[in-house]
Formats: sequence, structure tokens, C-alpha cells
Amino acid sequence: MPIATTNPATGEVLKTFEPLSADQIELRLRAAVDGFAALKRTSFEQRATWMRRAADILEAERDQIAALMTTEMGKTLASAKGEVTKCATGCRYYAEHAEAFLADEPRDAKAVKAIRAYTRYQPLGPVLAIMPWNFPLWQAIRFAAPALMAGNVGLLKHASNVPQTALFLGELFRRAGFGEGAFQPLLIASGQVEAVLTDHRVRAATLTGSEPAGRSVAQVAGRNLKKTVLELGGNDPFIVMPSAELDKAADVAVIARCQNNGQSCIAAKRFIVHTDVYDAFTDLFIRKMSALKVGDPMDERTDVGPLATKQGLHDADEQVRDAVANGAKVLLGGKPLDRPGWWYPPTVVAGITPEMRMWHEEVFAPVAGLYRASSYSEAIEIANDSPYGLGSNAWTNDPDEQERFAGDLDAGMVFVNGMTTSYPELPFGGVKHSGYGRELAEIGIREFCNIKTVWVG
Ligand code: NDP
Repeated sequence: MPIATTNPATGEVLKTFEPLSADQIELRLRAAVDGFAALKRTSFEQRATWMRRAADILEAERDQIAALMTTEMGKTLASAKGEVTKCATGCRYYAEHAEAFLADEPRDAKAVKAIRAYTRYQPLGPVLAIMPWNFPLWQAIRFAAPALMAGNVGLLKHASNVPQTALFLGELFRRAGFGEGAFQPLLIASGQVEAVLTDHRVRAATLTGSEPAGRSVAQVAGRNLKKTVLELGGNDPFIVMPSAELDKAADVAVIARCQNNGQSCIAAKRFIVHTDVYDAFTDLFIRKMSALKVGDPMDERTDVGPLATKQGLHDADEQVRDAVANGAKVLLGGKPLDRPGWWYPPTVVAGITPEMRMWHEEVFAPVAGLYRASSYSEAIEIANDSPYGLGSNAWTNDPDEQERFAGDLDAGMVFVNGMTTSYPELPFGGVKHSGYGRELAEIGIREFCNIKTVWVG
């Protein structure tokens, strides 16, 4: 993919960028090493001051950065503004808590025949962050805020379709007070990642994106014995049981599927509905999905804008065609919109079976698959029959069932009577092909630390 800003609402290429040369990358690697040497010597208090300043800048410039994201990847302006605010909150959260999360932890000195024993969390060094376009600010901040507060420095290989957001991120931390080498965007193609990742100065990597990208980066990192955190795709179940509040569940189902124009790893994608409430839920769901306003993402009244890329539109179209060819029934939408840009309307497809790609694959578009389950066990069986295990949602007012879902769903996150969302306070990540490691909370900041054991006799 060329490194370029292309408006997905029109297909118009607005600005292109040359990928960095090997010499330019070398300069940034050197700056990262110098930046790390300087940053690791600063106090938590100093870093927290800079991080709060980054939050202030985000809040002050919310509207401009939101408009830039909407231009580059098509999310609605309203959701882009919400994303900027969320990023400011994430920066403040780590400014406030990093020191406590990384404080020395006393151990049982007597048991190990020491005078003192403790665990110390120390930064690793330059970390390569390979990030996607779908939450172009939040995905990067979710890595950067804890990493910088821990004293690590970041090299950002952002998705090729959000180069201006990537450049803004580099400027953001520089303007906030972190040194030149603390957080640098690398405008490079995915083919240039291997050279950077194998460089001895890069200590670890984090990737949010597709399964193939995750496999590729994990292989390179594995060969070079470097730590990785992977946050890959998801095909999250949204289970509706007979005791659920149906109207509320249907309201949330629409948001959970169509947020970010249907392009979120934690979007609910498979709607598994108990047969006793299947017809009632389906009626409500279709009614609410058809009420969504599709249109110009810059218009504050728009609910669903375009897909981010031409390839994304092609992939979603192929997945729905495959389901239909194998016997699924389209209840709403089901075809790309005939207009410039990359538009796919809110769509509901019923009767998904294991022969269809939609059963196993993530659909990155506002396309919901409906499944009928005759019992709790069958709902769990369908939900867990996926290569992915990122988020999951269960709707039930039965306290026993709520507990059982928490235990039985094979996923990194279970949300009961609510929609999977990332909060700075909660660990975020998945199992199976959804990746490994965790972001956010105290666990996220420790992922890129040397957890050093100190024993004093
Ligand atoms: P990719 O996984 O291809 O892109 C994510 C990031 O990884 C980008 O920075 C990309 O760079 C980079 N990348 C891609 N391939 C490699 C590689 N082999 N080595 C190193 N870096 C790589 O996502 P796509 O945009 O192609 O989307 C495809 C599908 O991935 C979606 O339909 C969706 O299913 C899933 N996805 C999931 C996301 C999530 O949040 N979990 C986010 C985005 C996508 P470049 O842009 O230059 O190719």
C-alpha cells in the first residue's frame, strides 16, 4: 500500500509520502537510543508533567485532529472527537498511576535467605509499535502513554493510510516535552519492518492488526528473541438469552456492530440468539440497524461512514457473497453502495453455517451474522467455535448464567449486559488467534519492562 492520505468517502488521493530510506531510518534509530538514554534518567514526576501536557494538547486541538482522522480513514467526526478525548484520558491515567504501577515490590526476604529482596520494573529501551488505521490515535496512545511513562521510547510504524495522523503523534509528544527521540513516526512500508525489528537497538515490538501481520512480526521477533505483544483480529460473539432486556440488547447490538463503520477488533460480529427470543430480537435489531444514517462522515448526524480502504470493501463484499452462495439469507443491506468511495451499508445476514467464511473470519464492515441457539450450551459451543478469542458479550439477567458465561467463554474479555470496550483501568487483549499479552491497566505498562529480581544478602 502506498503511504498516502486518501479520502475513503470519495476515493480521492490527497497527499502522498515517500517511505524513509535506510539512512533516514538509521538516524531515527540513533535518536531512539539517545532518547532512551535521556528518558530513563528522568523522574516519574517529570514524565507525568509531559504526559499531562500531551493530554492538554489533545483536548485543545481535538477538532483538528478529529477532522484529520476522519479525512484519512472515514470514521465519523463525532466518533473521532470521542477518540481524541479518550486518548487524553488515557494519557492522564498513566501520568497519575505509572509510578505506583512500577514501584519496587518487596518480596519475602526471609524465605529466600536475604536481608532484602524485591522486584524492580525497569524500561527495556526502544520499542517498535506497528499500528492499524482503525483507531489511528487511540491504538498508538494506548501503547505510547504507558511505554513513555515507564521510560521506554517508541518507534511508530503506523498503517500506510494514516501518515498524517502518525506525524501528528510524533509532534504531540515532542511538543509535550519528551525529547526528540522519545516517540518517532517511521513512515515505512510493511516490507521495511523486518529490517527495523531485527536491528539490535530495537528491544521489543507491539502490533495491533490482522492475523497475517501478527504472524509475520512474531516470526521475525521470535527469530531474534524479542518480546512481542499482539492484539489481532476478533470475531466477537454477542449472545442474547431469554431473560435479557431485548430492547436494550438490540440498541447496544447496533452500536457494538456498527461503531467505527464496523471496523473494530472488538466489534460484536456474531449475534447468537436463543431460539425463544430469536424472532423478537431479530425484528428489533433489523429495525434499529435500518434506522442508521449512512453518509458523509464529516456530518455530525451521520452514524455510518465509508470503509477505510478499497481492499476492505472488496473483502467484506466477498465474505457476504460467499455466505449467500452457501445458503445464508440477507435480511438487510448486503451490497456495496454505488457511489464514489468505499461504502458498505449496515447489513444483517441470517443462517450462518460452518461452511461459510463468515463463521470463521472477521468481517471488518457493518455486517452482522445471526445465529440461532436452542440452549445455553449450544450458544457457548457456537461462540467458542472460532479461531479468535478477543472480546465477548452476553446478555442475560439470570445471575447463574452471568457467572457461567464469565467462565465458559473462551475469550480475553467477557462483558455481561454491556458492550466490549477498552478502558484504561481494565486489561485488554485476547487468546487464540486474537494474540497474546495485554494492554492497559497495570499489566499493560509492565509488558515492556524488565521485571528485575533484586536479592541483597
Ligand atoms: P494489517 O494487519 O495489514 O495492518 C496493520 C498494521 O500492520 C499496518 O501498520 C500495516 O502496515 C502493518 N503490516 C501489515 N503487514 C505487515 C507485515 N507483514 N509485517 C509488518 N507489518 C505489517 O491490516 P489491514 O489494514 O490490511 O486490514 C486487514 C484486516 O485486518 C481487516 O479486515 C481486519 O480483519 C484486520 N484488522 C484488525 C485490526 C484490529 O484492530 N485488530 C486493525 C486493522 C485490521 P501497512 O499499512 O503499511 O500495510
